[in-house]
Amino acid sequence: MHRVVCPGSFDPVTNGHLDIISRTAGLYDEVIVAVLINITKHSLFSVDERIDMLTEVTKGYGNVRIERFHGLLVDFCAANGITAVVKGLRAVTDFEYEMQMAQMNYRLAKVETLFMTTNPLYSFLSSSLVKEIAKYGGDVSGLVPEIVLDRLHTRLAEE
Ligand code: ADP
Repeated sequence: MHRVVCPGSFDPVTNGHLDIISRTAGLYDEVIVAVLINITKHSLFSVDERIDMLTEVTKGYGNVRIERFHGLLVDFCAANGITAVVKGLRAVTDFEYEMQMAQMNYRLAKVETLFMTTNPLYSFLSSSLVKEIAKYGGDVSGLVPEIVLDRLHTRLAEE
């Protein structure tokens, strides 16, 4: 039984995240999408809201579960019987940081990290860019799931 984790902020989940999650779900028995609780980082959506959206957009997959975590990812992996971390790689800019994290996690607890290359359709896509574009009225439809688009517009109108 191979259970893997896709960790991240998911503030909010984009079609780039979903692409990685769905491809990972096709390879492993179980995928845990772990939402990082980061109290120092300003987020647009609360952890509960991010989990709600992720739950909604992954409900079609029988083997994807959404959880939250704080502290060390390697501790979350040990507590949940997770074999490996799966991370999406967009461009070389992601690579340097991700390689450092992967090597540190291996050093800390022998946790392996596997990299999945982005779908070229989404290689330019990040949650922060989506928020930035949407904030100034840009069209982000097609880059995030419909329910995220609705919630994004509602939240930005409130701000
Ligand atoms: P960001 O805020 O940069 O969008 P997160 O911290 O939520 O991302 O990212 C979680 C994981 O999803 C990371 O491994 C990140 O590289 C990956 N990811 C994010 N966007 C994409 C994308 N467009 N294509 C592939 N992987 C992605």
